[in-house]
Amino acid sequence: MRQPVIAGNWKMFKTGDETRQFFKALVPAVVDVDYCDIVIAPPFTALTVALEAAAGSRIAIAAQDVHWEKEGPFTGAVSPRMLSGVGCTWVIVGHSERRQLFGETDESVGRKAAAVLAEGMEAIVCVGETLAEREAGRAETIVKKQLIDGLARLTASDLSHIIAAYEPVWAIGTGRTATPEIAAEMHGVIRRTVSETYGAEVAESLRILYGGSVKPDNIAALMDKLDIDGALVGGASLKPDAFRAIINYGK
Ligand code: PEP
Repeated sequence: MRQPVIAGNWKMFKTGDETRQFFKALVPAVVDVDYCDIVIAPPFTALTVALEAAAGSRIAIAAQDVHWEKEGPFTGAVSPRMLSGVGCTWVIVGHSERRQLFGETDESVGRKAAAVLAEGMEAIVCVGETLAEREAGRAETIVKKQLIDGLARLTASDLSHIIAAYEPVWAIGTGRTATPEIAAEMHGVIRRTVSETYGAEVAESLRILYGGSVKPDNIAALMDKLDIDGALVGGASLKPDAFRAIINYGK
């Protein structure tokens, strides 16, 4: 039985004060939630505030990106050790905005995922095709390659510290959600790919999140699908009410 996960990716939104306000509203609202894991990824500058505000709750805190090196002359970068040092337990790697706007490659995603695990944290590895790739009939090929390269440095036992997130680029921040059927089909591709590389047991336990314009009114239909184990939520994770409504998908 895979425990569902509802994760929020705040992208470049919220100051420390705004983060404090958000947690003040969300923490009491999710105190009874035990049927899913809750993760929030604020920007680096709000990590400490978020960690303090979430302390004692079931909300885990993630970073949105990381460098794979321990330390060094990498201006602007943050290392896994720095993240675990502040108490961060999760890191998102390979988000499509990092791939498209900041030159992230499948190779660097693989390095980052391995570095996150080596530091004792868990990684959310994002994959997903663009609209042009989907229209060219290449969605499956692209997602498989991103996944294989993203996990390339990991062993079967490492996979228990990984969550995969299928985020079709054409559905991120566009208001356009993949239908539950399209999402489920691609989640099936991800699970089969992991099964071929790491075996059926590892694939069966892998949690796979859907991301792309998830909102309170579409989460239930997505969560109904067999291979969808949760959601990675962008815009709707910025408002405590909307995020809580998504967390309450089963109620
Ligand atoms: C995301 O940033 O991972 C995302 C899915 O964004 P949105 O929910 O806003 O489409």
